[in-house]
Amino acid sequence: MRPILRIDLHVCQTCTTCQARTVCKTRAIVQYERGDLPIVDASRCRGCMVCIRACPFGAVRNDERPTTNDESSPLKQDGI
Ligand code: SF4
Ligand code: SF4
Repeated sequence: MRPILRIDLHVCQTCTTCQARTVCKTRAIVQYERGDLPIVDASRCRGCMVCIRACPFGAVRNDERPTTNDESSPLKQDGI
């Protein structure tokens, strides 16, 4: 099943880390103007999850996975 990546706009600090070519090779994370909140272009996203690990604020989420508040979550077990 294809993941659905989402950026939590209440958590994102617009640091631009996730937009680096070394993070998102398909340039699926788009920020239209400097300082704008980024969005994920689902048509370009390959679901590699690199941006989830790269975000220093934990703002990138996969809506198809359990939340980190769930003790049984793989994210919780991975310490993400
Ligand atoms: S790396 Fe995280 S905090 Fe920085 S712009 Fe991307 S989603 Fe926002
Ligand atoms: S999951 Fe991969 S392809 Fe999709 S936005 Fe994140 S880094 Fe880019």
